[in-house]
Amino acid sequence: MEIRDQKFQIQGISLVELAKTYGSPLYVYDGQKIQDQVKQLKEAFSTVKLKIKYATKALSNINILKLMKKSGTGVDAVSIEEVKLCLHAGFTPEEIMYTPNSVSFGEIKEAVGLGVMINIDNIPMLEHFGTEYGNSVPVCIRLNPHILAGGNAKISVGHIDSKFGISILQLKHVHKVVEAYQLDVAGLHVHTGSDILDAEVFLKGAEILFDAAREFRDLRFLDFGGGFKVAYKPGDISTDMKEVGEKVSKAFKSFCDEYGRELEIWFEPGKFLVSESGTLLVKANVIKSTPASTFVGVDSGLNHLIRPMMYDAYHSVLNVSKTEGPERVYTIVGYICETDTIAADRKLKEVQEGDIIAIKNAGAYGFSMASNYNSRLRPAEVLLLDGKAHLIRERETFEDILRHQIDIGL
Ligand SMILES: *Cc1c(COP(=O)(O)O)cnc(C)c1O
Repeated sequence: MEIRDQKFQIQGISLVELAKTYGSPLYVYDGQKIQDQVKQLKEAFSTVKLKIKYATKALSNINILKLMKKSGTGVDAVSIEEVKLCLHAGFTPEEIMYTPNSVSFGEIKEAVGLGVMINIDNIPMLEHFGTEYGNSVPVCIRLNPHILAGGNAKISVGHIDSKFGISILQLKHVHKVVEAYQLDVAGLHVHTGSDILDAEVFLKGAEILFDAAREFRDLRFLDFGGGFKVAYKPGDISTDMKEVGEKVSKAFKSFCDEYGRELEIWFEPGKFLVSESGTLLVKANVIKSTPASTFVGVDSGLNHLIRPMMYDAYHSVLNVSKTEGPERVYTIVGYICETDTIAADRKLKEVQEGDIIAIKNAGAYGFSMASNYNSRLRPAEVLLLDGKAHLIRERETFEDILRHQIDIGL
């Protein structure tokens, strides 16, 4: 997030003013930052046929999807609803990859009907697919390379016990199914987890994918999933995209030479594209000193941003209402009846009731994981583009809490 320190502006727009205009809590996204991230990825892979499939689940407002489309990305969807959302936002079926897990074959059929590429992650579904479509519909196969990667056990999905993908150890079985139904395997896919720092981890995944790919004759693409790491803490290192780009492109090109065809290289970043663009603005409701610490209780919590509680995620916080003055150490907590610590023991400019606290790096898995827990309303969302603020989602109202509930007249 390009908050210019001291003034706390993004694209020349004051965060405090945004909170005044649209209320709090408020999700704010910097459209320029998203476009910059797309550009960075494209430049890192400029020597190969790159396709970016933005992981919709990270942040799925249709305006964000449209911005991605304008920036030249495709999308990866993990539910039939996400597929429909992406179609609604203007993506063509060819631009959409559907990577479901544990869904019924009915949902896969529906997705095939919508014309999107299906990424199959288990052998029984591959057999269903073969029975239904034979070689008439191309398909992608999600492999599990069993690489341990990712910043947290909950986001590491490539290990031996993971529910995701078809184990690389079951490739023989995969080939039997492919031959039996003459499947048209257009692509192979791996996604090993989130928060992968290293070019080496990507290369390790790539080597395993290349080995598997040699046995498939008619591939059009290889998909390396998402998982690039972004910096959350001061001093955190993010994935060196230039280095990953150079190393992976080089390995990819020599594989293509050997394979005898120039394949497309696909990536499905979520976090990398949208995390830093997002800021959650919340308001200090109460400053409460205990013998141990000073809490700032804010008008939000794990219902709006669950990452600190679910993934032990670190989010930088700042008091954007104060440009000067002394700093003190605070623990920022939410208003939910759970221990929902957003940030512990942080130095902030002295906080007073009503101050606006900015929670940074909240673009990915922020709003998209928000809920109505405690019967609280989900926040509004604002997108900043070309120095202008656009409301892209209204704040919920009490009617939204009652919607779909049926009063049986007790
Ligand atoms: C979640 C997910 C991604 C995106 O992961 P990030 O860590 O946000 O980059 C990519 N591909 C698949 C299949 C996913 O499930």
